Amino acid sequence: MRIIIMGPPGVGKGTEAELLVKHYQIPHISTGNIFRELYKDRTTVGKIAKEYISRGELVPDDITNEIVRHRLNHQDVKKGFLFDGYPRNIEQAKALDEMLAKQGTKLDAVINMTAPEELIIERISGRRVCETCGAVYHIHNKKPKQEGICDHDGTQLIQRNDDLEATVRRRLRIYKNQTAPVIGYYEKAGAIIHINGTQSIKEVDAQVMKALGETN
Ligand SMILES: [Zn+2]
Repeated sequence: MRIIIMGPPGVGKGTEAELLVKHYQIPHISTGNIFRELYKDRTTVGKIAKEYISRGELVPDDITNEIVRHRLNHQDVKKGFLFDGYPRNIEQAKALDEMLAKQGTKLDAVINMTAPEELIIERISGRRVCETCGAVYHIHNKKPKQEGICDHDGTQLIQRNDDLEATVRRRLRIYKNQTAPVIGYYEKAGAIIHINGTQSIKEVDAQVMKALGETN
């Protein structure tokens, strides 16, 4: 099964991705992870990618596509893969199609998870975390016993900068600008499956499985 999963931050994409890789026993490939591995292995491409990332810039398409091409030659992707965070634009999507065509394969599905912007903002900006044990709470959906205090160790909970409303709005805007054309590209190819991310984890998974032709 060769799958791409797309969706804005806070839509529940990570959870569904984990269920899919477990179900199909396929590697979960995010370019962010490959970049970090390449950097740890002290490769030149890893160093170059790191420089872009630490400047807050996107890694150029040719570098990204090159490392994906490399990754697709590994033995563990013979059974399939799940891409997460790639392709990020039409150039990358076209490059991926070409790579797969050369291998005589193609994508089976592109899963696009969606949720109303206001709901995503509420989900993320309501998060509070404990810096001591890593526990994650939510001001409405998963309250600690005592407001603002971790149940496990009594640490004062904090809101991460990434979770601030203004930051979330900015991330959503960037996501939309980048990926709307990619979604259009796959829509034209008839490969896209839209999944409503406001449902429960179980409902989301059931819908994805059904769309992928897995009955019961
Ligand atoms: Zn804690």
